[in-house]
Amino acid sequence: MLSKLKKEVKLKLLSRLLYGVNVSCNICGHSFSTFLPYLGRINAMCPNCGSLERMRLIYYFMQQTDIFKPGMKVLHIAPEKCLSEKFAEVWGSNYIMGDKFEQGYKYPPGTVSLDVTDIQFPDETFDLVICIHVLEHVQDDTKALLELYRVIKKSGAGIIHVPFERGRTETYEDPSITDPAERKKHFLQTDHVRIYGEDYKQRFLKPGFKIEHGDFVKKLDSKTAERYVFKGYDFFLLRKPA
Ligand SMILES: [Zn+2]
Repeated sequence: MLSKLKKEVKLKLLSRLLYGVNVSCNICGHSFSTFLPYLGRINAMCPNCGSLERMRLIYYFMQQTDIFKPGMKVLHIAPEKCLSEKFAEVWGSNYIMGDKFEQGYKYPPGTVSLDVTDIQFPDETFDLVICIHVLEHVQDDTKALLELYRVIKKSGAGIIHVPFERGRTETYEDPSITDPAERKKHFLQTDHVRIYGEDYKQRFLKPGFKIEHGDFVKKLDSKTAERYVFKGYDFFLLRKPA
């Protein structure tokens, strides 16, 4: 609790020190001379709300499209705090947050226990499922994708996002590697179970999803991308056919 408080105070102080006009966070609306570094990336994290590049890009996409329809039933897996606060404002009690609780992690209040490979909700419950940077931690991502597909309504959508390595044609995974130090060596993080290659989209399509807005990042004007610091992240929407 104390460390959380310290982190929040530190962020508020940094937020004041970095006040400026060079970059803006489209989630919290604050502007800064620069964002904070994060995991070796410079100019990445909003000092006010903690948003990262992919979160700002996804939120920008949602603002620019018709995805923010009131009354939608939404499941957000491993919810990012900065996004969850915005989503709760729009969707209220129709917005459900779920995560697999693990020691050492913090979860927004109201988050329910959820295993992405065995989701407790009936078929076709949600209009939208959001699952950002989760599947690289999940051993059976095929099952997880089938589960995500199952709980999405017909014509509903998924915002499913994973880190992937550009130029790597095939996803690299080896379930025999379970030691955290070995996982870091092979998959770059102690709790990652694979490195997705450029073939990750084919995995996403297997349950039956169709890709929409695959050209969204390409269509962005450079000024917008630089202002909100999206850093060329890939993005597309997955649609379950009617
Ligand atoms: Zn922010």
